[in-house]
Amino acid sequence: MDPQLLIRPLVRALHPYVPGEQPKIKGLIKLNTNENPYPPSPKVLAAVKSAVDERLRLYPNPTADALRARLAKFHRCRPENFIVGNGSDELLALATRAFVQPANGAKTSASKATVQFFTPSYSLYPVLADIHGALSRAVPLGKDFALPSPRDLKRGGQWDFAAALTFITTPNAPSGRGYSTGELEELCRAQKGVIVLDEAYVDFARENAFALALKFPHVIVARTFSKAYALCFQRIGYFAGHPALIGALQKIRDSYNVNGLGQVAALATLSDLPHYRSNFRRIIATRRRLTRELEKLGFNVLPSRANFIFARPPAFPAVVWLQKWREKRVLVRWFNSPATKDFLRITIGTDAEIDALLRAARQIMAA
Ligand code: PMP
Repeated sequence: MDPQLLIRPLVRALHPYVPGEQPKIKGLIKLNTNENPYPPSPKVLAAVKSAVDERLRLYPNPTADALRARLAKFHRCRPENFIVGNGSDELLALATRAFVQPANGAKTSASKATVQFFTPSYSLYPVLADIHGALSRAVPLGKDFALPSPRDLKRGGQWDFAAALTFITTPNAPSGRGYSTGELEELCRAQKGVIVLDEAYVDFARENAFALALKFPHVIVARTFSKAYALCFQRIGYFAGHPALIGALQKIRDSYNVNGLGQVAALATLSDLPHYRSNFRRIIATRRRLTRELEKLGFNVLPSRANFIFARPPAFPAVVWLQKWREKRVLVRWFNSPATKDFLRITIGTDAEIDALLRAARQIMAA
């Protein structure tokens, strides 16, 4: 028997999400997946280490109660406003399952079965729609990756103001462009379905839109400990929103979706925020320096509010730069789509890593 025939046709045909490469080769300068170049704080490492004991035989707290209580204190709202996930990716998938009808469901209107997002943005969103058998609606951002106003979207005719679920990456990835809370609020007011404001990179920005999750019952803000808090490895993210929406997500998650050491690490992180704030400042200073130096070499660098920059290189196509940098042991990211193929996304590394990237760039230009 052909085992392929045992698989649902939807899954057989699925194009899965492609994460950035995690190279096996040692000594590469890894500026391709927006990881934090600095380790978790010594207090966080100590908390995780001291939790590695006979407790590992027990299930962790199923609802991450201590962490949600801590988040409630930090954000000045209630534990019921939060769900914690195995990375924010898990929560984005749960939102798709909780709020969107599969398109082949009986008598479903198209909007009820639609996952909507801007392009370019996080390339996971259409994959989540595909996995769920929902419809994807990809609407282009404006010039220089600006957020279109509701009026522009009405005029454009592509946007669905009743889409069951809309994902907005803010600051945008991969462009790094920041959006103001005012313009996000305008869009939230015009939208009838659920909106997830995916603030994965917001700690490197000037503004955040957290308040909108408390102001509007249909708005959720997504955060992660992966980027700003250097905890990719532990997989911790959270959603904040109305208790009704959060409660729906709690109903459908796995019983123990958040691992115990991750809960310990995230709690310890929230007790050591000044350490991280000084890291944000360092990363932002390096971002400024990298922008300046690449501009001197003729790159067009878009203003960034994230821990990466999006830059159009001179002399060769972006994909050639990707290859040439790789030959010099520097990994960056290239996205092959019409709106992104002329750019490279470069994660802000340590100053030494950025020096190596710049040195390699000068050699490439001189060759
Ligand atoms: N949102 C965006 C925009 C991202 O780039 C990422 C990281 N790939 C995530 C969410 C997910 O992060 P995590 O699952 O590590 O919390």
